[in-house]
Amino acid sequence: MTGVASCVEADKIRPLPKVLLHVHLEGSIPMGVVRRLMAAYDVHFPCDLDPAEMRRYCKVAGWPGFKAMFRSMIACMRTREDITDIVAAYGRALAASNVRYAEVHVSPWKHVNRGMDLDMLRDGLLDGLALLSEQATMVRFIIDILRHPTENLSTTAQWMNSLPRDAFVGVGISGGPASLPRALYKDFCEKVREMGYPVVAHAGELEGPTSIVEALELLGVRRICHGVQAAHETSLMSRLSDSGVHCELCPTANETLGVEKPGLPAVARMIRSGVSCSVNPDDETIFDTDVTREVVRLAQEGIISVRDAWRLQRDAIEASFAPSGVKSELLAELAPAWTAVL
Ligand SMILES: [Zn+2]
Repeated sequence: MTGVASCVEADKIRPLPKVLLHVHLEGSIPMGVVRRLMAAYDVHFPCDLDPAEMRRYCKVAGWPGFKAMFRSMIACMRTREDITDIVAAYGRALAASNVRYAEVHVSPWKHVNRGMDLDMLRDGLLDGLALLSEQATMVRFIIDILRHPTENLSTTAQWMNSLPRDAFVGVGISGGPASLPRALYKDFCEKVREMGYPVVAHAGELEGPTSIVEALELLGVRRICHGVQAAHETSLMSRLSDSGVHCELCPTANETLGVEKPGLPAVARMIRSGVSCSVNPDDETIFDTDVTREVVRLAQEGIISVRDAWRLQRDAIEASFAPSGVKSELLAELAPAWTAVL
C-alpha cells in the first residue's frame, strides 16, 4: 500500500466497532481516575501523569520502569469503591471508542498482597459491571496469576468457585523470564479448566519461542498473550496456524518495552502467516494507546488493509471466551459495518 492508500484504509477502520482480548485493568485506569486517586492516597509515580510522558518513561526505563508504573497504578486501587469507579470509567471509555466486547485481566494477588480482601475485589468488579449495564460494551474479566510464590493457587481456585461465570470468563498465567517455571502451574491449569475456566498464558513477549511451546505443552492453552516471538520460527508459526492457536498481539506495548524494533516486522509476519491473531493495547494508560489506535497504526504503516483488520476482529471473536451465542451476536453486529467498507 502507498502512504495515501494506507491513510485511507486507516480512516475507514477508525470508527468501526471492535473487540479486544488482552488488556490489564490495573494498567488501563482512565487518566482522570488515576489523577484523583493518586491525589487522594498521595501515591508516587515515577514520572509526570501525562499519557505521552508515561509511555516515554517506559521506553527509556524498560521493563523495570514499566513495573514501577504498574505498582503505582495498583497503589491507587484500595477500596471496593475504587475498583467500582475504575471498572465503570474504563468500560465507558471502551463504549465511547466503539469497543463492543473486551476481556480484561485483573490480578487479584497484587491487591491482596497490599491488604485487599479477595471478596472485596470481586464485589468492586461486579459493582462496576452493574454500572455498565446500559452500555453497548460487554466487559468480561480474566483472573490473572503471576508465576510468583506470593500468588496462592489453592486459595485462588477456591475463590473462583464464588465468581459468577457470566462475568469471569477465564484464567491467565503471566510472568516473564525471572518468574517461576511454567511446569509448576500445570496442575492449577488443569484444575481451573475442570471448573470450567479456559486458560490463557503470557508467552513469547520478553521470552523466546520456547516459552510459547511451554505454554502450549505444559499449560495446555489455546490462546497466547503476545506470542509475537513465534515470528522468529517458521515451524512454530505453522504449528500455531495448523492447530488454530490464537495470539494476542500488542504492537505498541512490544515497541515501548523494546521487544520489537525497529518498526513492526514480527507483528507483520505473524499477521501474514495465517496464525489466528488479534491486536490489543495491553495497558492502555501506561502505553498511551487503545485497540482502535493499535489497528489504525498497523494500517497507517501499510501492514494491514481494511480486509486484514476485519479478519483480526473475526479471529478475536472466534478466540474469545464468550459463549457461542455471544460470538454469533458479535459477528452479526460487527459484520455489516466492516463489510460495508471492504
Ligand atoms: Zn499482558
